[in-house]
Amino acid sequence: MNFAHFAPVRRKPVYNAAQFASQNGYLLTRARFRVMKRNVIRWFLVAAAAALLFSFPTIGGAQTASAAPHKAQPPRSVRLYVFDCGVLHNADMGRFNLKAEDVATTDMSMGCFLIAHPKGNLIWDTGAIPDDSWTPTGRMTTQHVTLPDGQKRDADVDKTLLGQLKEIGYSPSDINYLALSHYHYDHTANANEFASATWLVRQIERDAMFGGKFSGSLQPSTFSALQKSKTVIIKTDEYDVFGDGSVIIKSAPGHTQGHQVLYVKLAKTGGVVLSGDLYHYPAEKTLDRVPTFEFSQDQTRASRVAVDAFLKKTGAQLWIQHDFVGNAKLKKSPQFYE
Ligand SMILES: [Zn+2]
Repeated sequence: MNFAHFAPVRRKPVYNAAQFASQNGYLLTRARFRVMKRNVIRWFLVAAAAALLFSFPTIGGAQTASAAPHKAQPPRSVRLYVFDCGVLHNADMGRFNLKAEDVATTDMSMGCFLIAHPKGNLIWDTGAIPDDSWTPTGRMTTQHVTLPDGQKRDADVDKTLLGQLKEIGYSPSDINYLALSHYHYDHTANANEFASATWLVRQIERDAMFGGKFSGSLQPSTFSALQKSKTVIIKTDEYDVFGDGSVIIKSAPGHTQGHQVLYVKLAKTGGVVLSGDLYHYPAEKTLDRVPTFEFSQDQTRASRVAVDAFLKKTGAQLWIQHDFVGNAKLKKSPQFYE
């Protein structure tokens, strides 16, 4: 802090009566000296106050800058952000009716997604590890998940979902819509964070989540807050989120009762379908295998046929969310597809 900066312009500082006298060329009376001394003190106080005034916004600004670099503005065209929500280690390929040699890697990527639309935004899937259960260190760390039925899973994470959102100027309160492909724990971890958004869900899925009959692994504590969220119950096969055909939630039941996939129409990239868990490994598609733990394997087969037809009709690409190799090739936030 440089007080000299705030001193009277081009005026030598006066430290004692002798200096003052020699500077001004006349004899200083005791009374005048007191006045001068008071002035110097006043100048010092004014300078100190000014310095504080100028320094606080700087400090405050720096804090604000690190807390939220900027507030995201609605984009002119639809954007799709891919977040890194970690890698899930899968030890048992038998659950997918596959063998280890059928796949490039048994590891699964966990993608979380933000669709930023000129009229609002949507979070699609929220990962396996709740942000508030660990602290990022800047390096990949292994988190252990114990599911309510006693099953254990390991996942590697190095970034939180909220941290990645913050990096591009979004906080959970900025999110208008939340949709989950389905209720399994590896898609719901941070769902509670978006309880202030409008939840887009099918009745049969919601019923299973809150006391109904479910299949596979749930972590109800991660989505409990959604019970009180503003909710839109989707009743149609296709639900057009923003009313312009660019973001469509499509029913694809089987993995769970109300499982769904997401179609996003992008101006430059073209159409993309986010698979949810319609498939986990590309080998399920090429070798025609359906996992053992589906709510209904027959429904899954029918949904795969329906989504294939949809891909053909729209010309969209299919992004298998858990496909480690495919996911590794995708641009990650803060980059985006448009
Ligand atoms: Zn999954």
